[in-house]
Amino acid sequence: MRFRQDDITQGEETAPLHICRSCHQPFVVPLSIVDILDADRYVIELWCANCDRCTLSAHYDEELEELDRELVNATAQIRAALEVIETVDDLIRVDRFSDALHAGHILPEDF
Ligand SMILES: [Zn+2]
Repeated sequence: MRFRQDDITQGEETAPLHICRSCHQPFVVPLSIVDILDADRYVIELWCANCDRCTLSAHYDEELEELDRELVNATAQIRAALEVIETVDDLIRVDRFSDALHAGHILPEDF
């Protein structure tokens, strides 16, 4: 599918690509390369996972590399947050087991 030059957003791209122009949240991800304009410039379909906004825009390699770095950083932050949540969940389960044990609700015949 070919897009006319008029269909492609250009010029408003002073903010980082991972920030949504609509909801201003950092949840924009690339969906596909729609067209190649030059050796280092592409028309990219971008999608915001927060507000579902989908756009076509033209970007140079360096902008897309920056978006890729932001996605890697965001993924690392999500993984770190998930590890904290899992650790807290484990600690809560240990506390509940300990409380049940001290209250006499867990007996040897339960195992
Ligand atoms: Zn958005």
